Amino acid sequence: MSVKPPPLWEQVTSSSSAGETLEHVGAALLGGARTKAAPTASDADAAIERSSTARRYPVDHADVGNLDTSQDYRASVPTLAIDIGGTKTSAALIDEDSDDAFLKHTSWTSPPTAEDGIEQILTTCTPWAQRAAKAGVSFGGQFDFPTQTCIRSMHVPGWEGVAISRRLGEHFGFPVITDNDANVAALGEYQAAPRDQRDPLLYVTVSTGVGAAIIVDGTPLRGAHSLAGELGHLPISHDKTCNCGQQGCLERAVSGYWIERDHGQLAEYYLQDPQHHAAWIADLAQGIWSATVLLDPALIVVGGGMSAQGDRLAEPLRAELTRKAEQSHRTAPALELGDPSGRTVLLGAASMTREVARGSRG
Ligand SMILES: [Zn+2]
Repeated sequence: MSVKPPPLWEQVTSSSSAGETLEHVGAALLGGARTKAAPTASDADAAIERSSTARRYPVDHADVGNLDTSQDYRASVPTLAIDIGGTKTSAALIDEDSDDAFLKHTSWTSPPTAEDGIEQILTTCTPWAQRAAKAGVSFGGQFDFPTQTCIRSMHVPGWEGVAISRRLGEHFGFPVITDNDANVAALGEYQAAPRDQRDPLLYVTVSTGVGAAIIVDGTPLRGAHSLAGELGHLPISHDKTCNCGQQGCLERAVSGYWIERDHGQLAEYYLQDPQHHAAWIADLAQGIWSATVLLDPALIVVGGGMSAQGDRLAEPLRAELTRKAEQSHRTAPALELGDPSGRTVLLGAASMTREVARGSRG
């Protein structure tokens, strides 16, 4: 294709000539009263101006509510960050320009339905939103980025078809951007990594399932159908059938779900056996190696529940990847473990809102 799709915000501003889908994206990003009519260039300009004006001048108490006096003359307006997980939801008010980025931070047990989950987010975050100009959201499930719509959560019913960015944006009155949790966590890890050692970054999450995300030049590589990074379904050398319908998937061999199904034991107990652990590392390394051959990443970050093993995971995995690299006369990528605290995901959600700003300046 010779025509490159425009950045998201350009899709908003050019929606008078765009199709219904692009108008929908614009509405999802802008939120507010713009959901009934197609957003216009002046709508977008107003939102940008509101944001850029706030960056140029001291914060006005009347606009932003009860700011601490120490923050009266900060140069930027905070960003609202939300992490919607299957078991836990977290929210933060983040000032990316501050050394102590977290102005506010809280978390709670995710309610049993999507609707209750959204209500809890609105209740908790509305007071903070008065101080913010935009929001980034991490969604723990499959997510369609172009339409900003949830496909499903594996843990909480009712998220199917929820236009989460538009829903929150209507309430808060500013742009909201959402992506799946792997992409957002990867963005957070990218922000935290040394600038000259992170491009491209492969983020691998090993937990109940196996997922991945790829960051290139600070932006997730999402793919044509928001499915890039399906590392769990790369084939490795076994013949068991996976839930995806294929045989030999990495996830089928190494995920917590399948370890428990196959061996009748939680992974944390099953993998205490050194032989089981060594075989598990070999399978995991084989899958990650395949991704490495394709992507040539500068840095691999392994997160998810299994990364709680710490050095017991990182050291043999590093050694196995290095061995494979030497066999192939390649440079082994650096490998680190992800931040287990959940703060990096929130920082990733905040940094994702820059995609909106970048698009606006074309
Ligand atoms: Zn599969």
